[in-house]
Amino acid sequence: MNPKRLSLLPVRFLALLVGVVFSLQCLANQPNGTPTKFIPDQGYLAWRQKLLDCLTPLRLMCIAAHPDDEDSETLAFYRYRYGVRTSILLANWGEGGQNEIGPELYEELGVIRAHETMEASRLVGTGRIYCLNQKDFGFSKSASETWSFWDHDRALEEMVRILRIEKPDVLITNHRFGTGHGNHQAIAGLAVQAIPMAASPECFTGQIRDEGLLPWKVQRFFQQVRHHEGLPGEPFDASVPVGEIDPLRAVAYQEIASEALLRHRSQGVKGIWNQVNQARITQPENFFRSVLDKDFSEPLRDLFEGMKGAWWLESEEPAAAFSKLLPASDTANGPFQYAILDAMKFLGQDSSRFEHSLNRAVEILSASPDSSTIKPETLLEIPGEMWGLSLEVHCSEDPLVPAQESIFSLIVHNQGPAMVVVDSFDLAVPTGWLLTPIKQESGSLGPFKQAEAHFLVKPASDALPTQPGVVDLYRSRQPFQPQIEHA
Ligand SMILES: [Zn+2]
Repeated sequence: MNPKRLSLLPVRFLALLVGVVFSLQCLANQPNGTPTKFIPDQGYLAWRQKLLDCLTPLRLMCIAAHPDDEDSETLAFYRYRYGVRTSILLANWGEGGQNEIGPELYEELGVIRAHETMEASRLVGTGRIYCLNQKDFGFSKSASETWSFWDHDRALEEMVRILRIEKPDVLITNHRFGTGHGNHQAIAGLAVQAIPMAASPECFTGQIRDEGLLPWKVQRFFQQVRHHEGLPGEPFDASVPVGEIDPLRAVAYQEIASEALLRHRSQGVKGIWNQVNQARITQPENFFRSVLDKDFSEPLRDLFEGMKGAWWLESEEPAAAFSKLLPASDTANGPFQYAILDAMKFLGQDSSRFEHSLNRAVEILSASPDSSTIKPETLLEIPGEMWGLSLEVHCSEDPLVPAQESIFSLIVHNQGPAMVVVDSFDLAVPTGWLLTPIKQESGSLGPFKQAEAHFLVKPASDALPTQPGVVDLYRSRQPFQPQIEHA
């Protein structure tokens, strides 16, 4: 096997700097008597999903007020079936609710619910979780009451920012206007305001000027329509067959969502489980009504119908769909897609052809000058996983203090069968921080060997305390996901 060349660039470690440690013993309690049919993808299935994700640039976001309000059925359907990138945007972490599994309330309950949401999202395959961090003050009767507690301007600016960062093509929500929990009404209404503002270069110009964001146009926003005995109880514009069985996982998308819902243990699993069983029996489809001006006159076959990148409307089978969309001879338009399709075909069948196709896709991706085309970061994780490579990072000081030196150690492990070549290590630090390499091991790295690098890091004397990202705020250990670049 040829040596693989590897460089580690750039390692982003800001998220490591502040450790928020909470004792979350109650999280270890599994709900009693609830079956587990579905576990997150691993091995070939996970790689296949990462490849499938490369075939469409389309993105779906669910707007929800609290953890467990998200439409996990529809999110699971589009991610697992078609590789649509999915995300959720919450108003808060539901810290104002009751805790059915322990004594923690308020912020501590928010911590528990943030963990539950992340666990549920891992099952559903949701890529990103965003939160507006507006206070959950308990039940609210109306949107106006909610807005008397929430900061409207901050929430609107943040929602616009999130839409510009995540770039969803379609938004969905289970919430309605004018009825239900005030928090639900408020966030659904906020989305209606934020959508045109996110698309306008005149709105929140600081995000564009200072943060490098661009205006983003959400194309459609759907509200879920109530069911009545398995049928839509109101007029609808689109439906999604969430009761269908995923052929690779042998479980209905609805059941994946049910498993995810059960992860919201602090909300009372027994009640949720009864609700879930009832829904499964009576609601094999989710129905949606368009909230924005319609760009269609007939009900849609699919939430993404008519959008570029919705290959599944040509055929359920990616290879067949792309042969219709891109003739095999059309090497100018589809080399990336064809390389991915080849990799999917050879995965688990022919390792050298799989590797060849994957390398080709990575090469095309690396050379692509247009960052707005399909650029899934996850594709680059496959080579590292395939070759058994992992990266470990340690810091000698916790926390880091302005102007105080500390040592960062980076260790790359080769647990695979191939010889790899480590070109170099690098560590990206904020402007004004001093970075001094102390030691760097490079060169060939055989199976079961490791290579190390150490850096002296001195934060700037005026460095501000770091703020973990919203999603990371409540993790007991900060996540660390270095980008491994294949060269
Ligand atoms: Zn809610």
